[in-house]
Parts: sequence; C-alpha cells; structure tokens
Amino acid sequence: MSHLFNHNGAPNTGYSQPPSIETAVKPSIPAGLVRRQQARWPRLSEPEMVRHYTWLSKRNFGIDTGFYPLGSCTMKHNPRVNEVIAQLPGIADIHPHQPEHHLQGLLSIYYEMQHMLEVCAGMDQVTLQPVAGAQGEFTAVRCIQEFFRLKGDTKRTKVIVPDSAHGTNPASAAMAGFEIVEIPSRVDGRIDLDALRAVADETTAAMMITNPNTLGLFEADISEASQIVHDAGGQMYYDGANFNAILGITSPGLMGFDAVHFNLHKTFSQPHGGGGPGSGPIGVKAHLAEFLPGPLADRRTPTAAEQSTAVDEFWYHWREPAHSIGKVQQWHGNAGAVIRCWAYYRRYGSGLTTMSEHAVLNANYLRHAIHKAAREEGVDHLFVDGAETDVAKHEFTLSLQPAKEQLGVSAMDVAKGLLDRGYMAPTVYFPLVVPECMMIEPTETESKDTLDTFAQHFAEVLKVDAETLHAAPTTTPVRRVDEVYAARNLCLRHPYDE
Ligand SMILES: *Cc1c(COP(=O)(O)O)cnc(C)c1O
Repeated sequence: MSHLFNHNGAPNTGYSQPPSIETAVKPSIPAGLVRRQQARWPRLSEPEMVRHYTWLSKRNFGIDTGFYPLGSCTMKHNPRVNEVIAQLPGIADIHPHQPEHHLQGLLSIYYEMQHMLEVCAGMDQVTLQPVAGAQGEFTAVRCIQEFFRLKGDTKRTKVIVPDSAHGTNPASAAMAGFEIVEIPSRVDGRIDLDALRAVADETTAAMMITNPNTLGLFEADISEASQIVHDAGGQMYYDGANFNAILGITSPGLMGFDAVHFNLHKTFSQPHGGGGPGSGPIGVKAHLAEFLPGPLADRRTPTAAEQSTAVDEFWYHWREPAHSIGKVQQWHGNAGAVIRCWAYYRRYGSGLTTMSEHAVLNANYLRHAIHKAAREEGVDHLFVDGAETDVAKHEFTLSLQPAKEQLGVSAMDVAKGLLDRGYMAPTVYFPLVVPECMMIEPTETESKDTLDTFAQHFAEVLKVDAETLHAAPTTTPVRRVDEVYAARNLCLRHPYDE
C-alpha cells in the first residue's frame, strides 16, 4: 500500500504547471530565497496522492460512518443540502471587502439568522462574530465587564459557576480577568440555591450556567437562581451549548437570562470535530447590545438610489455597536458555518422543535434500553445512573464506579471496548462530579434499531473480563494511547524529514 507516510522517495511528481507560469513566477523570486536543494517531501503521482487521502479517510471515524454518542458534543447529522447552499458561487465567492450593494443577499441571510437566534433565545440582539462556544462565552463576559465599567460599578470582580460547569465557563471568565467562585451542586446534580444565596453579593458580576446542565438534567429552579443573582445586581449568562434539548420549547430569555451563546456546530448541524470550523454566536438583552463586537447585520428602508439593488423592501447594511468591546474575529465570523446553519433552519423552520423532542426522546430511550439490556445480561449491578428516577434531556450520565470497585473495570476500559465494536466511545470522566463517569448523547436522527443494537453491545462489553478490556482497543488503527505522555510530550510534526 503506497501512501505518503511510508513513501520511499521515488521521484514521481504530482504536479505539472504550464511553462508560461514557471517562467513568469521564477524570475520574480529574489535569488537569495530560491531553494538550493530539493525539498525532502514525498514526491507522489496524482493516483498515489488520491490513494494516500483515501487511505487516511478510511481510518477516520465520523457521524457518516457510525453511531457517535459523544456526550456534551452533540454530533449531528449534517444534511448535504447545507453544503450545496454554502457552496453556491453567489455565496462562496464573495470577498469580505465587497461593498454592501454587492452583499444584499448575504446580509439578509445574516440578518435573518441573527433574528432567528434572537427569537429562539428570547434575546434582543445577536452577533454572529465568535467562532466557538468558548469564544462566545469570553465575548459575552467581556460585554458584561464593559457594562459594569461604564456604570462605574468597579466592585464586581467575581463570576459564579456551579461545580458541574463545562470547563470553558471558568476559563472564559478567568481570561477576562474575573475571579471564579465555584458552588457545589446538590446530590441530584442540580444547582444548590442556598449555596448560591451564600455567595451572591455586590462583588458578583455574573453567574454562568448551562441548562440542561452538564449532567443532562433540566434545572427546575433556574428562574429562582436568576432572581437571586439579579437581586444582588449581577448578570445571568446562559451557556447555550445544550440548546439541542430546548430549541422552540423554552428559552433563556424566559428563564431570566441576560446573555447566551449558541454552538451552531452542535445545535444547528454545522459539521464539527477535530477542531473543525465552528460558530458560537451570542445573544444579549438590550442593555448589553451596544457592547457587542460588530459588524452586526441591520436593515432600514432603502433610499431612492438603493431601490434597484435592494433584494426586498429593505436595505441591509453592517453596523458597529456604539460601545463595542472590539472585534473577536476577523471579518464577519465564520460565514460558511453561518450559511449552513441558516440553510438548516430554513429547511426545518418550526420543525426544529421536533428535533429537540427527538433528541430528548432518543436519550431517554437509550438510557432505558442500556439498563434493560444490562439487566437481561445479568450485569445491572455494574453501573449506577446519575439520577435514576429523573427524566434526562438530550444526554445522560452513568457512573461505572461499582464496576471499578468490583471488577477493576473503569469507564475508560468500557469506552475502549466499545471502540472494538465499531462505535465512537461516549464521553468519559466528564462531568467531574460523577465518579467513573460515562456521558452518552445519541443523535436525534438515529433509529430505534440503532439505539437497541448499541444498548445490546454496551451490555455485552460490561460482561467482558477485565484483562481483555484492559487491552482494548485491538481493532483500531491506533491502540490505547498514553494520554498523559501525549499531553506532556507534545509532538506536533510528523518525523518525516528527521
Ligand atoms: C461544547 C461546549 C462548550 C464549548 O463550546 P466550543 O465550541 O467547543 O468552544 C461550552 N459549554 C458546554 C456545555 C459545551 O458542551
């Protein structure tokens, strides 16, 4: 098998340029910069190159190859029509410097996307600038900081987060210069209002919380939490990464929040994974709107001169908010991601509520199916559910602590065992509040059959002896990696030229 990594360096070449380009380009390179030795790159012909990338792609695992129940990450099916629309020449070939009268179509898409997210979140203004959830968090926390600074309220230096929070919440607030105050959750995994009351005071800038929380549980006391923080003069920040469970059903605005971020690459089907292009728009209430990073898409009645290029009865234009914290991203955010998500939204419209209902249904069904299959295999004593009696939202947690104690089998071992059965492993060891945690989030488009089969495999893996599981995975391109070594000894380039 010939591919780039084992190539013997035979002098094939995969490129050919017309001589006119060679002679036109070469003389313009200053003599001192011209390469004196042949680069030590593999030289492959076009068919060899195609083989290399096809070989690599077959070693990949994705939502298009199998079931991907990675909790917290919301791995969605990415409808192909989104790609077709994002690649239309009128969209894909736009240069960000083009004048507004060339961009009326794109601007109207931005405007519509902002507006749709405003409605879903119950917020007054959305910016599509941030390109990740974490960047959205940082942006919103900075807006809150500027809001207090402009009011002359300089005492508010603290941000409250529950101990079950996604790690990006305290990280974003700390990056903005806030001190983090962590409050413990109740035994059922939900926010402890007494613990919140004890810390909310005149030094509180904001509380950051996700709902459903990182255990997949709906925070029933969320409005009361908002009240406590507002009474203390603080702001409420909603980590909207878990919007997949509530879209069209309830909203952060209804729960009393002031700011929220979306993960378009989770809830709205933008493909993600491996650090791919994301989009993390934020929405805020009116009192924070003028602090947002621009440009925002806005619209007004066209002037007489603009009538001929206006796409409908409006003239769309960019706008910079008056007290903007400044840009957090070049140009207009991640335009390709915005377009795909807009296509997704336009295709389903109010049907997106059904998407949320199916996400919750699939999670609860799978949770029961795993318990049932495990019981039938006689292994239900091996794990406990984080909240047995509760209804989960779009994801749920299991604790493999009993398996660890009784059999020496960890959550990591079970996850690796699932890899050998052709599944992406669920998230393990997050959230930190659940010992030997396994966090499962089935995609809402999965069939009952897929969920039943996975549940059966899950129960069977729990029956595998500890020694075999310690050795898993044995069928993947890479066996079990030493994660500590990998984190401590970063190796970021292929040793090809050494
Ligand atoms: C994914 C996630 C984030 C961070 O989003 P990124 O786009 O990965 O930066 C924040 N909070 C929660 C609850 C998440 O699941």
